[in-house]
Amino acid sequence: MRLPKLSRVLAALAATTMAAFGAVAVEATPASAAIRNVCYNTSQAGPFASYANQAATIWNNYTANINMAQCGSNLMIYYTYGGGSYAQRTSLGNGRVVIDYYQAQQYSPLRIMTHEIGHILGLPDNYNGNCAILMSGGSAGTSCTNPYPSSAEAAQVDRNFASTVRTAATSGVFSGSWPAPAAVGANR
Ligand SMILES: [Zn+2]
Repeated sequence: MRLPKLSRVLAALAATTMAAFGAVAVEATPASAAIRNVCYNTSQAGPFASYANQAATIWNNYTANINMAQCGSNLMIYYTYGGGSYAQRTSLGNGRVVIDYYQAQQYSPLRIMTHEIGHILGLPDNYNGNCAILMSGGSAGTSCTNPYPSSAEAAQVDRNFASTVRTAATSGVFSGSWPAPAAVGANR
């Protein structure tokens, strides 16, 4: 899935080379300019920092138009004890993700992380119970550990970030994606 990004780089390289030979009269913006860094910060992520890194790698591998890296604080990763995991998107690619430590013992922490980051990347919830769908969240049950977006979900993220005038994802808080199993909840 890295091919699209590589091809963009090659295209940009070709454009640069052509420009160097004076073959390109119009200074067109290369497609590679669409790749946007989504800078996340794990300084407050505690034991979930490594999951954030893994989730970033997954999103980088599945998309062509974003590059997640620890290059700033557009996306802060936090964790908490109780209250539920959620994502608070302030705008596309910006906001915070909060991982509930207890929920991460019931559900796959990597799936939670990748899902919540999906909200920051502009995806809504899709509680259809299908484990192959990342944004189905906890509706797929605690046995679902799939941390990968479907091809449709990845394509949607690419569309969100595709143009120079990027999709204006509205701000919002996405919570309640990981309902507490009754048996576990009763123990708390
Ligand atoms: Zn969600």
